[in-house]
Amino acid sequence: MIFGWFGRKSAHKEKPTAKEDTSSMANARIIDGKAVAAQVRADIAAKVAALKSANGFTPGLAVVLVGEDPASKVYVRNKGAQTKEVGMNSIEHKLPAETSEADILALVDSLNKDPAINGILVQLPLPKHVDAEKVLNAIDPGKDVDGFHPVNVGRLWIGEAALAPCTPTGSVILAKSVQENLSGMNAVIIGRSNIVGKPMAALLLRENCTVTIAHSRTKDIASVVRGADLVIAAVGIAEFVKGDWIKPGAIVIDVGINRVEVPGGKAKLKGDVAYDEAAAIASAITPVPGGVGPMTIACLLKNTLQAAQMQHRLAITA
Ligand code: NAP
Repeated sequence: MIFGWFGRKSAHKEKPTAKEDTSSMANARIIDGKAVAAQVRADIAAKVAALKSANGFTPGLAVVLVGEDPASKVYVRNKGAQTKEVGMNSIEHKLPAETSEADILALVDSLNKDPAINGILVQLPLPKHVDAEKVLNAIDPGKDVDGFHPVNVGRLWIGEAALAPCTPTGSVILAKSVQENLSGMNAVIIGRSNIVGKPMAALLLRENCTVTIAHSRTKDIASVVRGADLVIAAVGIAEFVKGDWIKPGAIVIDVGINRVEVPGGKAKLKGDVAYDEAAAIASAITPVPGGVGPMTIACLLKNTLQAAQMQHRLAITA
């Protein structure tokens, strides 16, 4: 099987998509995640078209949605639309909330065996009666476009080719859209979850960063972050990272998505970084929304293309 790393083989060669902030306080360039994600999708669409004409097949992404979680339904709908937009086949399996674990496992097994399906994504959360870990581990690692399977996690850490989780992959693309070569940077990741913090550390090691992972037991986290040339915030606490934690000129990637009540009973999305404060000191920063968020589905499509190329023993260009 031929695998390709995003870091070495990424065809995402576009130059920075950043624009000057109009706020009088901000010095930082705002990293436009929507624009970078659109570039990634355009690149995938061109490669899917080339694959169709040269090799006569169309990559297929299967998404399994169990139950009626409203946020999951929106997310799955967006995934389906963007999958079709890049010219791939989108296959959705919508199952009732009471579907048994055995039936979900049987569906995953049939998708594993289906040659028209190159990527499988089981939308989380699954209903309580289903063992999510068991279901995710049943996905063929070669079709595991979320990059959560232990085989892909292990490959990522030991430096073998792997399908890497989408949000960290997208975050690294955004950092590289500001500074193509991250080698030698002191990167501080705040958060050590399996879906964001840990894979981010593996990806940044591959970029030759010196990586520190901070978490809830880290002592004097402010001074740890002050040493960072690249800050990745994945904490899940609105405006956790303060402006005076940021080293002047640092690149700040804010993964956090926090729904915060604002006067009038409405909710607003805020990141894990105190944006205005940090934007006054950083050299570049992702906004929330419009930063890391749009990159996740783009990188899912990138992984699907990579998975299809791997399964067909083709050179990886995704
Ligand atoms: P998570 O699983 O809850 O992990 C949060 C991490 O933050 C944990 O490692 C935790 O440390 C650490 N933490 C919590 N409180 C802390 C504190 N006071 N000081 C230092 N570290 C602290 O969250 P996640 O799934 O990684 O997500 C993180 C954020 O990213 C959330 O806002 C989430 O909504 C967002 N997110 C965005 C996307 C996207 O597409 N943009 C995708 C995924 C997640 P311990 O391990 O010590 O508890």
